[in-house]
Amino acid sequence: MENETEYVVLFPFMAQGHFIPFLALAQILDRKRYTVVFVNTPLNIKNLLKSFPPSSSSINFAEIPFDTSDHGLPHEITDSLPYNLIPRFVEATPSLKLPFRNLLSDLIDIHGGEKPLCVISDFFFGWAADVAHEFGVFHLIFSCTGGFGMACYYSMWMNLPHRFCDGDEFLLPDFPEAGRIHVTQVTPAMSMAGENDPFTIFLQKNFVSWTNSDGLLLNTVEELDKLGLMYFRRKLGFPVWAIGPLLLSEEDRSKTGRQSTINSKQCIQWLDKKDPKSVLYISFGSQNTIPAPQMMKLAKALNSSSRNFIWVIRPPLGFDINSEFVAEEWLPEGFLQNIHEQDKGLVISKWAPQVEILAHKSVAAFISHCGWNSVLETMKYGVPVIGWPIGADQLYNAKFLVEQAKVCVELGRGVDFEVTQEEIVDKIELVMGENGEGIRRKACEIQEMVRDAIRDEENFRGSSVKAVEEIFIAALLRKEKIIAETK
Ligand code: UDP
Repeated sequence: MENETEYVVLFPFMAQGHFIPFLALAQILDRKRYTVVFVNTPLNIKNLLKSFPPSSSSINFAEIPFDTSDHGLPHEITDSLPYNLIPRFVEATPSLKLPFRNLLSDLIDIHGGEKPLCVISDFFFGWAADVAHEFGVFHLIFSCTGGFGMACYYSMWMNLPHRFCDGDEFLLPDFPEAGRIHVTQVTPAMSMAGENDPFTIFLQKNFVSWTNSDGLLLNTVEELDKLGLMYFRRKLGFPVWAIGPLLLSEEDRSKTGRQSTINSKQCIQWLDKKDPKSVLYISFGSQNTIPAPQMMKLAKALNSSSRNFIWVIRPPLGFDINSEFVAEEWLPEGFLQNIHEQDKGLVISKWAPQVEILAHKSVAAFISHCGWNSVLETMKYGVPVIGWPIGADQLYNAKFLVEQAKVCVELGRGVDFEVTQEEIVDKIELVMGENGEGIRRKACEIQEMVRDAIRDEENFRGSSVKAVEEIFIAALLRKEKIIAETK
C-alpha cells in the first residue's frame, strides 16, 4: 500500500539502540511513500539532520524540548550518558508529554487539520497513547527488543518480588512457558527494587499504560520468536506484530553516531586472508565492558586457543569507556605483540564495523553480550553465539538464543561470575570445533528464517513485510472510522 498524503509520527527514546530500529522503520515507510515525522530532543535532531539532510528523503525531523536539569542530570543527552544514569534519565521522560502534545497539535495545524495516520512511540513512552487518542490518532508501541527478551523483562518487573520456590530458580507466574529463571538472570536493579523505588514505579506504570495503545510492534521475526509474541498477545489483548529484523546499513548506521576506529577495508582484507569459517568475533556492544579479571582470562584463553579472532576492546568495567586502553595493565604481557607476530588476531579499539565482520565468510562464531541488535545481526548472517550477557534484556536474549533458537552456548552472566581460561577455550571449541556442527547448521536454518521474513518479492512476501502492511491497513481503517463517526 502506498500513500503520499499520509504522514506517520515516530518517537524513539534518545539512545542509539532505539534510534537505529526506528530509523530503519522510517526508511521502510519512506519507501512506501509515507511522510515520516521523526521526533526527538533538539541535540539528537541536530545530529540526525547533519547525517540525513532534508533533501535525502521524505523523513522530516521535529524537535521537542526536554529539560532534565530538575532531575540533576545533564541538560540533554545522546547515547553517551553513563550507564548508571540511564534509569534516572528514563524516569524523567514523562515530562515530554506536554511538549509532545503541543507538537502533535502543531503538526495537525500545519497539515491543514489532517491528522497523522499513526503515532509510533518507544516502549518507554506508553503515555504517548493517551496523547495520540486525545487527537483521535491510532497509536502503536514499538519495542526495539525481541519478543522473548521483552516478555521476560516485562513479566519480571510486573511480578516483583520474585518467588524462588526451587532453590535459586523460579517460574514467572504469567509466563511459565519461559522456563526457569535463575537468580543470576535477575538484574541488580530488579533485585534491589522496592515499592517506593522510582525506577520500579516508572516501569510498572509505563507497562500498564501500554494497554491504552492500539497495538505493539516488536523488532523480531514471527516464525522465530513465537513464545514472546504469544505472551504479549495473551497479556495485552490487542494486535502484536513482528516486523523485524529492522537494521540499518553500515553506512547509515555510521551516520547516527560512532564510526569504526579501524578502516573497514583493512579489517575485511585481514578477514579475506583467513580460511572460511575460521575466525571468532568478540564484542560487548556499544556501551558495555567486562571487568579487568575477566578481560585477563579472555585474553589468556585467546592466546592458548588455536582460533583466529577479532576482538573489539575497551577499558574494563569501572574505567571511562572513552579513555585510552592500557594494554600493559589489562592484558597479559606480550599479548598484542604475540598475536601480531602470529597474525592470529585483530584487536580493534572501541568500535568495529560489526555488520561487515559478521557478514564475512571467514567468521565462524561470535562471543557476544547478546544485545538485541547484535542478536539480530548475528542471526541474519548465520553466525552462532557464545553468550556472555552482562545485564538488562541481554540475560533473556541469551536464554532465547540457547533454549528457543538453539544457536548459542552460554559462558556466564553478569559482571561477577568467575570464568576460567579453560572454560572459555572449551566453549569456543564447542561452537567452532567438530562438535559444533549441529549449532552451526541451526544458525544457517535461522539465517534462512530471518531473511525470509523480510523478502518482498512478487511471489513471496515474508511475514514481517506482510505485518507492516497490516499495520497500515489497520491504521487507515481506524482513521476512516473516526472520520465517519465525526461526520
Ligand atoms: N556495534 C558496532 N561496532 C562495535 C560495537 C557495536 O557496530 O564495535 C553495533 C552493533 O553492530 C549493534 C550495536 O552497535 O548494532 C549494539 O547494539 P546491541 O543492541 O547489540 O547492544 P547495546 O550496545 O545496545 O548494548
